[in-house]
Amino acid sequence: MGAEAMLAAVAAEVRVCTRCPLHLGRTQAVPGEGNPLSDVLLVGEGPGAREDATGRPFVGPAGQLLDELLRSIGWDRPDVFIANVVKCRPPGNRDPEPEEIAACAPYLDRQEAALDPAVIVTLGRHSLRRYLPDARISTVHGQLRRSGGRFVYPMYHPAAALHQSSLRETLFADIRGLPAALLSAREALEAERVTSLPSPFPDPTPLAPAAEVDEAEQMTLF
Ligand code: URA
Ligand code: SF4
Repeated sequence: MGAEAMLAAVAAEVRVCTRCPLHLGRTQAVPGEGNPLSDVLLVGEGPGAREDATGRPFVGPAGQLLDELLRSIGWDRPDVFIANVVKCRPPGNRDPEPEEIAACAPYLDRQEAALDPAVIVTLGRHSLRRYLPDARISTVHGQLRRSGGRFVYPMYHPAAALHQSSLRETLFADIRGLPAALLSAREALEAERVTSLPSPFPDPTPLAPAAEVDEAEQMTLF
């Protein structure tokens, strides 16, 4: 099955899911949307009122800021894929409970597997916690990090900047680093892929994986 079909299958299951109590209060579930071929997955927290009403992620005030952020680096929504850690709106926009996040995680797992993104941009604490449980957003925002086999680029949640205007500048500064982070992640993943390929030669010349990763890292400096 290709990425598009896998994502469509997840979305169809999410729309009728009753795995956690959040299904009781939803108008519509919000599976996520975007480009099935994208190398960039943005992961938010959960639907708000407007998302719940429309079934689409980040279409309220936080979504408008997210659109602005993407446009500031010449990207647009159709260039990326946008999803959330929980697909149904927590009542009154409260934080999702750990059990709800756990119940919903298999959907995001499958979205990740379908997209196989080079970079996952976490938006806010709950999304960050999924990938880097011990990291503090104030320390790691705007820095490319490794989480298992994935590269993660943590950012503050756009909604936070709506309440705390000083974060607006931080968000714009952080997203400015995203294209270079994507390049860097792609280079590192490619270097790993190449060094892990079986050699076609009976007596292979030793490869130098460390040197290749160094080169990939240097690219981001220039
Ligand atoms: N906030 C989120 O975390 N996700 C959305 O989809 C909308 C607002
Ligand atoms: Fe299912 Fe996730 Fe919605 Fe809970 S939040 S009902 S697990 S889709």
